[in-house]
Amino acid sequence: MAKTYDVVVIGGGPAGYVAAIRCAQLGLETACVEKWINSKGAPALGGTCLNVGCIPSKTLLESSEQYHRLQHELGAHGIHIEGVRLDLDQMMARKEDIVLQLTNGISALFKANGVEWLKGHGKLLVDRQVEVTAQDGSVEVVNADNVIIATGSKPIDIGAARVDNAEGLIVDSTGALDFRTVPATLGVIGAGVIGLEMGSVWSRLGSKVIMLEAVEDFLVLADQQIARDALRQFKKQGLDIRLGTRVMATEKTAAGVKVQFRDKTGDHEITVEKLLVSVGRRPNTDNIAAPEAGLLLDERGFIHANDICETNLPGVYAIGDVVRGPMLAHKGSEEGIMVAENIAGQHGHLNYDAIPWVIYTAPEIAWVGKTEQALKTEGIPYKIGSFPFSANGRAKAMEAAVGMVKILAHAETDELLGCHIIGPFASELVQEAVLAMEFHASSEDLARTIHGHPTLYEAIHEAALSVHGRAIHKINT
Ligand code: FAD
Ligand code: NAD
Repeated sequence: MAKTYDVVVIGGGPAGYVAAIRCAQLGLETACVEKWINSKGAPALGGTCLNVGCIPSKTLLESSEQYHRLQHELGAHGIHIEGVRLDLDQMMARKEDIVLQLTNGISALFKANGVEWLKGHGKLLVDRQVEVTAQDGSVEVVNADNVIIATGSKPIDIGAARVDNAEGLIVDSTGALDFRTVPATLGVIGAGVIGLEMGSVWSRLGSKVIMLEAVEDFLVLADQQIARDALRQFKKQGLDIRLGTRVMATEKTAAGVKVQFRDKTGDHEITVEKLLVSVGRRPNTDNIAAPEAGLLLDERGFIHANDICETNLPGVYAIGDVVRGPMLAHKGSEEGIMVAENIAGQHGHLNYDAIPWVIYTAPEIAWVGKTEQALKTEGIPYKIGSFPFSANGRAKAMEAAVGMVKILAHAETDELLGCHIIGPFASELVQEAVLAMEFHASSEDLARTIHGHPTLYEAIHEAALSVHGRAIHKINT
């Protein structure tokens, strides 16, 4: 007889594995179906994020930044180093080791919490039955009182540049995390988050990076004042970012990849050694539900889900990249916790207005809440406070005094509506604003909070003070 679980989670990425662990903590008998086979040919948990996303990319960003800093930044401190040498094999081996440690860690957490890992492809059948097809083709069907679908996303393909990671000429982010030599030239289609992060890695390691972005504006989701500053800094670093370009065709040649593109000045052609296609990701809904199960998708292929991640089918939930909202690991994980708690009869809830975004370039870009352009469009009255890192003692000491903090507060209530940062450790700093927004704090609350000196956090304090024209370490205008 088919086994029955309280909960079956399909997908073991940061949305699915977190949901499974939380369900088990709440006393629910839980299984997680996951089919990932890692580069060593072994089954692995952790999904895109741990295997080929957040973790390996941040590992290479850190390594490449250290390499760049040794060569180009320590001179300003009076430290001169000769003979800096890149060992790319060691850098890649370190990345792979970190991935393995973390993915094995999830497997250990499953064991400790009593989550059963069903290895294979999961498919929702009628009445919350789940079919699990193992790698060897054997099929098992299990029953579930509740099913959570967390099957994630995959890169969008474009006809003009077909990805083949095995060949390694035209690649997606997975391929670009695994180059075994530094390409002399790297073309990037799409100057979004992946393009900028992977472009930064290879640029710091020595590639000439040319980015072809379809849209005329840079980083459309970010506050445009911050985006303009970012574009200036990245161009100064040597990233050749060409906005408003349309790739028409690519051709593999002996020298690499010939890319034909069009912009407002006409048709152009470049040849690059490798080409990264990073034009967004799409929900992974291929073969995840039998047609007779009746699972509703929206017009863009995302599983239809309401604010608490219920699908159109009773007892079937969907979380993470496979549903609406930003494709961010922490968003999926928090949805997993919310759904687990609701299944257990608690009152799980997620504040979609306080999800932090981070782009791990140097300087980093991070934000939470509304951008200035969104406030204008929505007709919400606001005040702005800002503070440059050039006037922050800690940033100066770090030789990282670029960028700014910008705070947006409601003009009448003073409630914090958004915080936008470009600068050192923006990824960490933004959390102060996330917490403040979670507690519906005002800019006055931030301004009255004591911040240690000298810290980067003082830039947030000063930006909050400047909302009401009383910053101390800059001239208030
Ligand atoms: P996934 O992580 O994609 O996991 C889905 C899992 O489901 C996979 O393991 C897959 O094998 C499995 N699966 C799919 N279908 C089935 C099936 N039918 N049966 C069984 N298993 C199935 N986000 C951040 O927040 N911060 C970052 O720094 C960051 N960096 C990134 C860098 C890169 C290069 C990429 C590509 C993404 C990055 N992201 C980052 C995005 C982040 O990886 C995703 O938002 C996150 O992984 C989504 O989690 P998920 O669990 O919804 O899906
Ligand atoms: P993205 O949406 O960030 O950027 C894609 C870019 O490609 C956009 O600027 C878009 O205008 C451009 N584009 C689309 N079609 C194009 C075309 N035909 N030619 C040229 N440009 C084109 O997507 P991404 O960079 O692929 O990342 C995918 C997802 O992964 C993102 O949603 C992001 O949330 C997530 N991610 C997050 C992080 C992070 O949190 N630090 C890091 C990497 C990825």
